[in-house]
Amino acid sequence: MKNIAASIAISTLAATGVEAQEERRRIAPPAVYDVAPGLGHFTDSVLFGEVWERAELQPRDRSIVTVSVLVSTGKSAQIGSHVRRALDNGVKPSEIGELITQLALYSGWPNAISAVQEVKKVFDERKIAPVANSEEARIELEAAAEAARTARVNTTVAPTVPALADLTNRVLFGDLWQRPDLSARDRSLVTMTALVAIGQPEQLPFHANRAMDNGLTQSEASEAITHVAFYAGWPRAMSAVPVLRAVFEARAANAQPTSTDTSKDTSSMDIKITRANTNPAAGPADYFTGDVEVGSRFSADAPATVSGGVVSFTVGARTAWHTHPVGQTLYVISGQGLVQKVGGPVEAIRPGDVVWIPANVKHWHGASPDQAMSHFAISESDEGSSVTWMEKVTDEEYASKPAID
Ligand code: MN
Repeated sequence: MKNIAASIAISTLAATGVEAQEERRRIAPPAVYDVAPGLGHFTDSVLFGEVWERAELQPRDRSIVTVSVLVSTGKSAQIGSHVRRALDNGVKPSEIGELITQLALYSGWPNAISAVQEVKKVFDERKIAPVANSEEARIELEAAAEAARTARVNTTVAPTVPALADLTNRVLFGDLWQRPDLSARDRSLVTMTALVAIGQPEQLPFHANRAMDNGLTQSEASEAITHVAFYAGWPRAMSAVPVLRAVFEARAANAQPTSTDTSKDTSSMDIKITRANTNPAAGPADYFTGDVEVGSRFSADAPATVSGGVVSFTVGARTAWHTHPVGQTLYVISGQGLVQKVGGPVEAIRPGDVVWIPANVKHWHGASPDQAMSHFAISESDEGSSVTWMEKVTDEEYASKPAID
């Protein structure tokens, strides 16, 4: 009997040992393998076996990115396990608290408050003392960049939504971004990640630039996007790629000596000719209604920031509502089109007409209901972005008769 008991004890031990080894390899819960063995494979071999191991982003940063995605997208059920992992990867409890505070302003209070409930359970389980308000010195923001940012908010936001402009200057940048206990770089990583995860690439150029000004490297930024693909899905990550590429290109251009220094170099550059109908592509369905083709796309060499192309709208096709940070010029090539500033009349435009759309004016342009239209569009970019897309132009808005014909 004694021997049997001993052998049972040994085999139990052995089984426990094997299971422990299995568990080290298998991070996916057993249920995952019972229901979706493919998901088990991708979880353990790809996500944890490969992506989390990639050296381009430290485990601590990967934890910051992961928790930021979970909090900003309201995935409360996974927050506990990833906060444990974050603590193990060297993220301090006070940093987790600041991460959640940051995300309250960038992805909303409800998500932040829900996250706090989950994190408190982990703090209790690990006997982590309540986080005290920091006595550290506040983070000083770079004065010139702050002045430029404030000026932009005062001209583009204040006239329309003055309280939001005031809170942006006073609370976001005058307080939140200066709070100690989360470095400027980490705060940027949290913000950038959340913008990608919640699908807000419009604000990404500003924050990606800020992140790199705050010390995040380009390779870390690109690796963070890769990591987000697993926690917020491929489409979100893919949407961020062209935005990030524009930011990288703009920074590379700005890193060149100033235009006066390069006049000698650019004088020997070649003239570029973008031939008619170069690489035509369909206008993305998110930003256009009806069949639209964009071709002959070009972009100027630094120090210029102009880019553009020929946009051809079929009958009834038009852009969504949008703005350009530095304005836009249209030259009508053929057909008959329409253009409208929000709240203004729908105006007819014809071949040879030149249309100037000032910076930040919300508008749309497109073909008329009975004729196609093709125009050449050219605009300058600001911090890598030349357009901010908004909602689609409804059939009712589009059907309104041209007031000026
Ligand atoms: Mn436009």
